[in-house]
Formats: sequence, structure tokens, C-alpha cells
Amino acid sequence: MNDLAVRQAIQRDKLPDNVQWENRFEIRSETSNRVYVIAQNKQKRHWGCSCPSYRVRRYCKHLKTLGLPCLEKPHEVGRIEQ
Ligand SMILES: [Zn+2]
Repeated sequence: MNDLAVRQAIQRDKLPDNVQWENRFEIRSETSNRVYVIAQNKQKRHWGCSCPSYRVRRYCKHLKTLGLPCLEKPHEVGRIEQ
């Protein structure tokens, strides 16, 4: 996927912002019934995931599949229509 696909996913499945995170949306795990939340950090501008791999290593296949950088590297996906 690419930034356009991420913008479309945010527009389609947007969750409310919280204190630290915006552009939040849910993804479904391909290997289980779990649902994870992808989001962008409001201040540092990097992307994160709620899955165990990201929590421990700041790296996961969900971000990679979406084409988003791991390891807290800031990344903008462009303007999101509200
Ligand atoms: Zn993940």
C-alpha cells in the first residue's frame, strides 16, 4: 500500500483522536481475529500500531504492509479530506 491508500483508510475508518494520537484507524489481523489501531503521533509525527510487536520493538508488519516507516520515523501521508 502507499500514502493514498492510507489516506483512504483513514477517511473510511477514522477513529476519534486521543491525547497523543490522530489519524487513527483500525486494521484487522490477517492471522487472527484481533483488531489493531494504527495512528500518527500528534507531536512527533511518526506512526504507531497497537500490536505486541510494535509495543516491544517499535516495528511491525502492519506498518510495513501499509508502507509506513517503523522505529518512530516521522512521516506525512498528505492532506486528509475531513
Ligand atoms: Zn502492528
